[in-house]
Amino acid sequence: MPVRDEAARIADQIAELRHAIHREPEIGLDLPKTQAKVLGALAGLPLEISTGRGLSSVTAVLRGGRPGPVVLLRGDMDALPVTEETRLPYSSAIPGVMHACGHDLHTAMLAGAARVLSARQAELPGSVIFMFQPGEEGYAGARQMIREGVLEAAGPRPVAAYGLHVTSNRLPCGVFSTRPGPMLAAADQITVTVHGRGGHASQPHLAADPIPAACEMVLALQTMVTRTFDVFDPVVITVGSFHAGTIDNVIGDEARFLATARSYSSRSRGALAEQVPRLIRDIASAHGLGVDVEYATEYPVTVNDAAEAAFAGETIAAAFGPDRGETAQFPITGAEDFSFVLEEVPGAFVFLGACPPGRDPVTAPTNHSALATFDDAALVEGTALYAELALRRLAQA
Ligand SMILES: [Zn+2]
Ligand SMILES: [Zn+2]
Repeated sequence: MPVRDEAARIADQIAELRHAIHREPEIGLDLPKTQAKVLGALAGLPLEISTGRGLSSVTAVLRGGRPGPVVLLRGDMDALPVTEETRLPYSSAIPGVMHACGHDLHTAMLAGAARVLSARQAELPGSVIFMFQPGEEGYAGARQMIREGVLEAAGPRPVAAYGLHVTSNRLPCGVFSTRPGPMLAAADQITVTVHGRGGHASQPHLAADPIPAACEMVLALQTMVTRTFDVFDPVVITVGSFHAGTIDNVIGDEARFLATARSYSSRSRGALAEQVPRLIRDIASAHGLGVDVEYATEYPVTVNDAAEAAFAGETIAAAFGPDRGETAQFPITGAEDFSFVLEEVPGAFVFLGACPPGRDPVTAPTNHSALATFDDAALVEGTALYAELALRRLAQA
């Protein structure tokens, strides 16, 4: 029976798991209820299961009946601090927490793939690591799982690693999208505190006003982006938070702002880490002010291996048909901590359209929106792709 048909046979089970996880979303690295649901879904399957020490991850290894290499499949499990407004029957029961990025689908699809592949254990030429990961949304859970040994869970390191991500807009439901090279941006955080000397707003010459200098920094960062970076290796800096002062007639002591910096190559990223602090310090010094500037590297660029992205494209065409896959023209400005896995193992990250029927992918609410909805119809497709990638990659090695 084709893998997709096997996934379709357990569609209800996959959807039920997804809805249960969606109803009880959890944030960050500690997701005990989600972990328990995953362990329940995997119970009885011929898997070697271990759980995380510093986070509530689940690592499951399926050892095939025939010798061969190792392939890793990853699904993330965490939710976001968003209050759900979808009015779906399985809406979040936890105020202020929502699976607005669709990680509930990833978890359910990966558990579905573990079931489909377990049924083929005897014929499987190698092993599969199922990586159920907490803390994707800013907590670098993937990095922590790597430190705890997920890449060595089956013995030898994987020859390839694949991650899936659903999207509530942009792609029609059931359409896959990937590309060779950069797939998502690196995301870093810039924190700046300008130290002045407060005083009376009518006598600025007796004080040291941090606000004009901080404003100059914000504008200078934008000029720096356009004057020192190649337009074909894009960089985005957005100051998302800026705070200073209390009232019109007082000069405050401090101005503070936060910015995110996105880039698509290690060269640009390295240049940002060097140039941003220098620019900020030099402007402060030009005004005779003190400054603290921190450039914190968060997630690296998610880079798809060219051969693995091509393999994923061929797998999609062979298993689902040529009209079900697209090569994305551009990367996405979001970031992903699957990038830490792809720094260690060649692989590919694939997007899957999950826009519900009746909604236009162009105008549908995006991932992270309180109104984002993901169609259950995508569950069978994602489950089947996970399983197909593992089966075909192991057969190829
Ligand atoms: Zn997200
Ligand atoms: Zn996500």
